[in-house]
Amino acid sequence: MIDIKRCSRCRREKLLTEFDKNISSRDGRSCWCKKCMKEYYLEHSEEIKKNNKKWRENREGKRNICISSNNKKRSKTSKEFIKKSKDFIELRRVMGIGV
Ligand SMILES: [Zn+2]
Repeated sequence: MIDIKRCSRCRREKLLTEFDKNISSRDGRSCWCKKCMKEYYLEHSEEIKKNNKKWRENREGKRNICISSNNKKRSKTSKEFIKKSKDFIELRRVMGIGV
């Protein structure tokens, strides 16, 4: 098994352990080494924060649309349903039953 991978950013060959795990990648590791990832985050931290905020706002917006498209009675019922199932999961967890 090959445990060396070339970082597509710095072009250096490094041990697989130098790469973060990434389930969406074919070999299960991200294509950039940890060092490059860190550098990227530091260089683009403001941008990433902005994007995360945008993504959250997008998601909130979508959720609001979803609720407003339902009638009030229905959204109340589904909220209660979610609360009940959360309680149920919590109960099972407390009782030691696997969910
Ligand atoms: Zn690298």
